[in-house]
Amino acid sequence: MMDETLSDLYQELILDHNRTPRNWGELAAPTHRALGHNPLCGDRLTLQLVLSVDGRISEVAFTGQGCAISKASASLMTTALRGLSRDDAERLFAAFHALVTQGHAGEVALGKLVAFQGVRGFPMRVKCATLAWHTLQAALSGQGQEVTTE
Ligand code: ZN
Repeated sequence: MMDETLSDLYQELILDHNRTPRNWGELAAPTHRALGHNPLCGDRLTLQLVLSVDGRISEVAFTGQGCAISKASASLMTTALRGLSRDDAERLFAAFHALVTQGHAGEVALGKLVAFQGVRGFPMRVKCATLAWHTLQAALSGQGQEVTTE
């Protein structure tokens, strides 16, 4: 009963972020950017960041087209990134990846990102949920090019 209620809440959160993605659009002067493509599902997104002089993410925005999971995941990711250092962002991705592949995130608090726990067990959906994060990694590494999940 409890689990059912929680998963309904999570589903509602994902639908909400798909309908009304946060940080949607383009930045005037991004310092980092990357394109992400998930050919299995057809998801595409562009992620832009401003990494400020103190090494923290101060602005983030995305656009793209794809399934509800990919769009909601990108939206929720952008809400979690502001103020994080590159290392913090990497740690968050590692925890998120553990959540969607193994069902637990270790000691890192994921907040609303736990909504994607349900994709575990659906490898295709895992690609959708992690696309934005792979794109973030590419952007932070300064490649500025397209990253393709496989
Ligand atoms: Zn997808």
